[in-house]
Amino acid sequence: MVASPALQVSGLTRSFGGLPALAGVDLELRPGEVVGLLGPNGSGKTTLINVVSGVYRPTSGKVELLGHDATGRAPERLVRLGLNRTFQTPRPFRPLSVLENVQVALRHGRDARQSPEEILDLCGLGGQGGLPAESLNSSQQKRLDLARALATAPEVLLVDELAAGMRHDELDGAAELLRKLAAAGRALLVVEHLMGFVRQVTDRVVVLNAGTTIFAGSLEEASEDPHVVEVFLGA
Ligand code: ADP
Ligand code: MG
Repeated sequence: MVASPALQVSGLTRSFGGLPALAGVDLELRPGEVVGLLGPNGSGKTTLINVVSGVYRPTSGKVELLGHDATGRAPERLVRLGLNRTFQTPRPFRPLSVLENVQVALRHGRDARQSPEEILDLCGLGGQGGLPAESLNSSQQKRLDLARALATAPEVLLVDELAAGMRHDELDGAAELLRKLAAAGRALLVVEHLMGFVRQVTDRVVVLNAGTTIFAGSLEEASEDPHVVEVFLGA
């Protein structure tokens, strides 16, 4: 049996000052799968995450989350319904400790009984809960941001460039963690530029260019698609 989609995005459009950053994107995420969202800089990847997670309202189109109409809902509401995201540039509560950052997220999420220490362990921040968030390097901030998102117990997780800025020896751990989350039944959308990481983590990919989908299928096929090759080489 094929599971029904956890997230279904139809005809999603968002314009800024009359210019479309997203122009009619369709996307579906099923429980247990990791979909890679690829595309050159400025192609609309972060905008898609921002619109789906309620940071921006769509200009038109529809977002369905776990059977609910989630179009244009506020981020807090979406978190309660089971969706959360990470940020390309994380902004932790800087004066708070690493542990306190996760505790805040736990209180706003769907399962406050989870152990914040276990979530930090899972994200490779075990033993670092007492550090001030502002003392973390960029890779640690990305992992804290992931911990914050996981603390809300999402069924659908949108991950914006987690691997960017990670050291080589941290990538395998990050890839393993994302696979583990999918194996536990979550649906993941992963924006990433590092192709090795995309290959390791994703089941299939969607490629955006100028706010529209130019390819959907396997990464292998994408790398042989003339239009995909052209937009990447032209970027
Ligand atoms: P990507 O994440 O693929 O690099 P973005 O989604 O960040 O691309 O950006 C897509 C386009 O939308 C870009 O042209 C960008 O300048 C524009 N854009 C994104 N957010 C805003 C905003 N808040 N105001 C104006 N333009 C925006
Ligand atoms: Mg982006």
